[in-house]
Amino acid sequence: MMNKIASLPPVSEMMRESGLEPKKQFGQNFLFDLNLTGRIARSVPNIEKTTVVEIGPGPGGLTRALLMAGAKKVIAIEKDKTTNDILSRIVDASDGRLEIIFGDALRVNLNDIKEYAICANLPYNVGTELLIQWLHKIASGEKIKSLTLMFQREVAQRIVAKVGNEQYGRLSVLANLIADTKILFDVPNTAFVPRPKVQSAVVQIIPNAKKIKAIKDIKSLEKLTAKLFGQRRKMIRGIIKTDWEKFGLTGTERAEEISPEVFLKISSIIDVNLL
Ligand code: SAH
Repeated sequence: MMNKIASLPPVSEMMRESGLEPKKQFGQNFLFDLNLTGRIARSVPNIEKTTVVEIGPGPGGLTRALLMAGAKKVIAIEKDKTTNDILSRIVDASDGRLEIIFGDALRVNLNDIKEYAICANLPYNVGTELLIQWLHKIASGEKIKSLTLMFQREVAQRIVAKVGNEQYGRLSVLANLIADTKILFDVPNTAFVPRPKVQSAVVQIIPNAKKIKAIKDIKSLEKLTAKLFGQRRKMIRGIIKTDWEKFGLTGTERAEEISPEVFLKISSIIDVNLL
């Protein structure tokens, strides 16, 4: 049944046939290289048993790879309705495994799906915002089993950064308190049409039930990291007056020297609402 997908014309040809051009306002940078889309799709853990949510299928290169890799079901959310012609042809070839939802991924509610994985070559203009949304959903119990996502390389490095790294910040703390994160591989800008200025990387984020259980109040955690990283050059004792020794700190540290675990501990003891 994968043959119907494999025998569709190449993505670039389907684009030409339907007159589809990449649009800047939707952050469109498409992937045509089958080796690359295949590699991303095959990175989704247990894909054959999984419903995969794809954000921004565009002309469907990655969507096709997910179907070819054997995804049980793919639900693709796309904002640009002019991709409808092309995506409908893929739906027709999918034997009921592909569903397209036209809408804004920032607003679509997926509560009805019991369990899913996310895989996407994300539009860079909303990538970070989407990730933060997903991390909050995961922390509040939504069953997202894995996220396999293309980001611009600098954002990828921020997601996986450990305490002490130059890129370490709010996003690293949040992501690593909720999930296990790693960069799977780098992707050069030459892989995209049109070619973006920045380099990219595929990140894998696997929610970790044990970590999630330890988070009691994600809002105060976020307030705390916003406050301390908001003045990242300042010593923490100059930002918050408290007995830092309780946390094994002297107060002369800066935010970038505080590990995610210690952030969590501080946020559970200090009343962040009073800050
Ligand atoms: N997955 C395709 C396209 C990636 S480009 C490929 O790899 O070739 C990013 C895609 O996300 C575009 O198709 C763009 O229209 C779509 N997009 C941008 N903002 C979106 C949003 N808020 N919700 C859903 N899709 C969006």
